[in-house]
Amino acid sequence: MLRREQKFWGWGEPGAGPGLPEHAGGLLREWLGVSGAVVSEPVALADVRLPPPAAPAGLRAALERIVGAEHVRDDHATRVRRAAGKSYLDLLAMRAGACEGAPDVVVAPGDHAQVQAVLHACAEGGAAVIPFGGGTSVVGGVAPERGRWDAAVSLDLGRLDAVLGVDVRSRTARVQAGRRLPELDHALAAHGLRLGHVPQSYEWATVGGCAATRSAGQASTGFGRIDELVVGLRCATPAGELATLSAPASAAGPDLRELVLGSEGTLGVITELTLRVRPVPAARRYEGWLFRSFEAGCEALRALAQAELAPDVARLSDEDETRTTLALAGEGGAVRRAGLRALGFRPGSLLIAGWEGEPDDVARRRRAAVKRLRASRGDDGAPTRRWGGGAVPLGRGAGEAWRAARFAGPHVRDALLDRGVLVETLETATSWTGLPALHRAVRDAVAGALAATPPVVGCHVSHLYPDGASLYFTVLARRDQDDPAGQWRSAKRAAGDAIAAAGATITHHHAVGRDHLPWVAAEHGPLGTDLLRTLKLRCDPAGIMNPGKLLRD
Ligand SMILES: Cc1cc2nc3c(=O)[nH]c(=O)nc-3n(C[C@H](O)[C@H](O)[C@H](O)COP(=O)(O)OP(=O)(O)OC[C@H]3O[C@@H](n4cnc5c(N)ncnc54)[C@H](O)[C@@H]3O)c2cc1C
Repeated sequence: MLRREQKFWGWGEPGAGPGLPEHAGGLLREWLGVSGAVVSEPVALADVRLPPPAAPAGLRAALERIVGAEHVRDDHATRVRRAAGKSYLDLLAMRAGACEGAPDVVVAPGDHAQVQAVLHACAEGGAAVIPFGGGTSVVGGVAPERGRWDAAVSLDLGRLDAVLGVDVRSRTARVQAGRRLPELDHALAAHGLRLGHVPQSYEWATVGGCAATRSAGQASTGFGRIDELVVGLRCATPAGELATLSAPASAAGPDLRELVLGSEGTLGVITELTLRVRPVPAARRYEGWLFRSFEAGCEALRALAQAELAPDVARLSDEDETRTTLALAGEGGAVRRAGLRALGFRPGSLLIAGWEGEPDDVARRRRAAVKRLRASRGDDGAPTRRWGGGAVPLGRGAGEAWRAARFAGPHVRDALLDRGVLVETLETATSWTGLPALHRAVRDAVAGALAATPPVVGCHVSHLYPDGASLYFTVLARRDQDDPAGQWRSAKRAAGDAIAAAGATITHHHAVGRDHLPWVAAEHGPLGTDLLRTLKLRCDPAGIMNPGKLLRD
């Protein structure tokens, strides 16, 4: 609440980021049957509907004593800005001014001790506590659910944003959890270092929020997910402090760090992290490749991952996402020019591959991977002769165009919402063996649920492992004007059921939040769910921490 803020109804600051390209109107008409004209606009901030704040008597005063009166706020604007994350359902509600569940009070502690004291005050005063980092959750993670309490306190981590120390020799940095990712990289750059964790929400996400959700960045194939970058952490729970040793590895029993990673604010508040950092790269090489089919591309990526030759960024779009990307890239776009030339109007599958590091290292790793890409075979096992024996190179222009536009998606989403489009994403992961069937099953499930408004469903693979990969789906459809939330809920339910039936995970990196609760208990099984519940009970006996997230109350 004290620093730069996003639009309460969308992504980024007002006026930031690109809009829709001019030719998109025609495409939306052709694909989805929407006119391309603006049909809805968000309400003004002053018109958002909020109930009066209802913090228990005495709690507000106790919070003021802990953090200072200026850091305890319950004004209209502050409460609206802490009421929701950035999922499609969140944005639908905020654009309509429906903010009945807003937190009663927003408190911004300045250090670990203040966080600890705030948790004690809320446990004593009887209020739910919802940690708020960047507020970019897309699974209802920051929704101010109250559980059995009458009041909700949003615990804003914005003041915990210091870099506490950089150990250049060990390549680690100790930082407070509320530091935003670009600001962390900016501070590390003074030492020639960076974190290198770049989710699409990079501009706004915090390092603590990423750790609390087990986030994956665009280069996580090469650099590892956030879980692999956290060496140690400090967490304030209602039952006291849980701190782990920042040793590179340990055999001292099960890893307690792992219990906190992905705990989504249900155990306590992560206040500090020690992170593995890496040198700012001296060389970057991004380029595009085209496969004749998604299956052929997946096979090539599997071979690369299993040979330990995967690029740092490897992002393979299926045929529908490739077609959409090329069409939306615009007449002058480098991806479009190269892609259409290679496609010759036939479907194909676009790979963006990127390497970062020392020039020699980038050249060596790229050479080995390119050799494999050129020789890759089709899904039927035959060399893709029609394509010159393997994947077709599209050159650096295509790769650089992707890199330049890699944060554009959420800005464009706002423009699509104005035009009456349903636009949302969902993600999962499974083994290489299960990947083709899972891809088909989710697409079919979403298309079936949205049959009344036939959708465009695109998908890409973006995080590779030797044994499997993630799938990330983007859904576009004409928005149902009468029940837009119900329309998406039915598609999400169908997709979640298809994912569970395929034995895949309900989330590879968005976390559980509130929206994945229907599937997560089955994923963990009865004993696993009980263990998580027991852990929560020990750390948070009163049940104040982020009720209704990760575990059913
Ligand atoms: C446009 C867009 C693109 C995205 N792209 C990606 C992507 O590429 N990869 C990816 O992994 N995710 C992505 N996400 C999801 C989201 O950005 C991540 O989950 C991110 O890790 C959340 O960080 P945050 O700081 O915004 O956390 P918040 O949204 O503030 O919080 C997320 C959850 O963690 C809890 N929490 C936050 N901070 C703390 C803390 N210090 N201690 C304890 N609990 C805490 C919250 O209570 C909540 O449950 C995207 C989201 C959007 C809107």
